[in-house]
Amino acid sequence: MTVQIGEIQIGGPRFTVIAGPCSIESENQFLSTANAVKDSGASILRGGIWKMRTSQKSFQGLGSDSFEFIQKIKAQVGLPLISEVTDIRQIEEVSHLVDAFQVGARNMHNYALLKELGSQPKPVLLKRSFSAFIDEWLKAADYVLAGAKAQVILCERGIRTFETATRNTLDLNAVVYAKKHTGLPVIVDPSHAVGIADLVPQLCYASAAAGADGLIVEVHPNPVEALSDADQALNFETFDKMMKQLEKVLNAFDRGLNKA
Ligand code: PEP
Ligand code: MN
Repeated sequence: MTVQIGEIQIGGPRFTVIAGPCSIESENQFLSTANAVKDSGASILRGGIWKMRTSQKSFQGLGSDSFEFIQKIKAQVGLPLISEVTDIRQIEEVSHLVDAFQVGARNMHNYALLKELGSQPKPVLLKRSFSAFIDEWLKAADYVLAGAKAQVILCERGIRTFETATRNTLDLNAVVYAKKHTGLPVIVDPSHAVGIADLVPQLCYASAAAGADGLIVEVHPNPVEALSDADQALNFETFDKMMKQLEKVLNAFDRGLNKA
């Protein structure tokens, strides 16, 4: 099954790269990142409007203060946008602004949110919780898919294991398993999986080789100053280099990139 976000088909023969900042921090930050990732070959933008932060003292996202400039930037750059909703009430609030809704790892078990998202037509990117069995993740997808208009893309974003050297452990088993046992598109978030920018490109290549349908990658104009997930964001130059190498990996598997 393929799922369409804007003009982009996810789950077909072509590989899709979604990229952008962890959090939308300002008009300049989002505009420059959107232009840079588009120039490097990303076909969908990401950017957090409301953030699910472990600490209440951490940056929580700009929320509705950012709507106006996001609208402007989307029109200017011409790429669709995916963003996380953390509460049922936000679905309606941003449905004019986003082309697909992200359910974060921390909300994978929020069945009320999943059911509500199943009742609207925009695609839902369902992150796997960092402590969910594959079976629980797929059953969470069923909550969305029970809705009449539902469309789901699965996203593996790393799980907690005994290992502490990296933020999480990328479970490529889950990617190949979900590809084999569901008809749903499956993408990988290497940024949250490893949590270390230097190691992200290699996981992008591995995900492509494993047969994922795409990636969602965090990119920031100046990663050290990012208000969330600074350690894992790629700068523009590294993202561009990664994309060039990624195309070679995809070509080895007779695949290519989805272009905007
Ligand atoms: C994110 O995409 O910025 C995010 C918070 O991801 P996750 O829900 O996977 O932690
Ligand atoms: Mn993040």
